[in-house]
Parts: sequence; C-alpha cells; structure tokens
Amino acid sequence: MKTIKNHVNGILNRQVLVLNQNYHPLLVCTARRAISLAYLGKVEIIEKYRETVHSPSIAMPLPSVVKLDRFIHVRESSIVLSRRNILKRDRHQCQYCERRSVPMTLDHIIPKERNGPDSWENLVCCCHTCNRAKGNRTPEQAGMKLMRRPKKPTRIHYIRQFVKREQSSWRPYLYMEPMRTGALA
Ligand SMILES: [Zn+2]
Repeated sequence: MKTIKNHVNGILNRQVLVLNQNYHPLLVCTARRAISLAYLGKVEIIEKYRETVHSPSIAMPLPSVVKLDRFIHVRESSIVLSRRNILKRDRHQCQYCERRSVPMTLDHIIPKERNGPDSWENLVCCCHTCNRAKGNRTPEQAGMKLMRRPKKPTRIHYIRQFVKREQSSWRPYLYMEPMRTGALA
C-alpha cells in the first residue's frame, strides 16, 4: 500500500509546463497543481504524460503541458547575475573550446583591466586553459572565438533546465525544436 501511495505522490509531483494563453512559457508547477487548475477550468491540458491519475470518481490523463484560459500580464523576472547563473546559462561548457567536464572559471570577454564590466554580455563560462591562454586580451587579440554571443537569460532559458527525457513534449513550446504540425490548431 505504501508503495502505491508513494507512486501516486511521485506522479502528482511530476513537473508540468504552464503556458500563458498565447502559448508563451510561464512557469513550471506540479501535476497536483495543474490538475486542480484543470478541474477548475482555469487551464486546458495541451500535452499529456503516459500515466493516468485516478481518484475515486474520475480518471484524468497526467498533464505535461497546460495552457491558461486567460492571458496574464507578467513582468520578465530578473535573474540575478552570479557566477552560478553564468555557469548555468552556459551549461558548464567553455565558451571558447566547447569542452565540458573540466573545472570552469568566469572570463571577462573584455578584460576587467580594460574596463570590461561585470555583465551578462561580458561574462562567460571558460575553462582554466582558455582563461590562461586569453590572459588580459580580448578574444580578437587572442585569436579566440566565442561559441555564441552571451545574453541575459530569459524565463525560457530558466525553464529549459527542467527538460529531461520525460519532458520531451515541452521542447517545441520552449523553442528547442520546431512545433509539430497541428499542435497549435
Ligand atoms: Zn576552454
């Protein structure tokens, strides 16, 4: 009995992507919360997990993506500029040599000594080897190329980190792959 209960709790704690009424990703909540919102008619279930949730009276597919019934205005939340968040944004990958799984540091693209600011646009995740090789130079001067131009992360970047294999149905909504035909119909 305990096992069954834990299993149900596990299912109800599964993460659900909540979209605004215009399909813009808003946040991640638990299935428990999404089901009660669906029950109240406040959200529409757009994508489902394979499992079904049973209560004494109803059986409902376990929601994976839900969409709000009404549009809500949200301010773009501001993510704190920190070492941890820079490393997270860059997925712990050196932005010069593209290596992962080696100790990382932060690199000022325009060095601090040349008045390079501490900003989302001037800080990147960098391995120690590249950091030493670059020294107090700009990437151009050092003949090094950045993988991508760093930007301030958005809500979508933040939500993307929740996507695991089970959340593959979220990917089109987070612009990680093209929308399936008819998904917006
Ligand atoms: Zn590197």
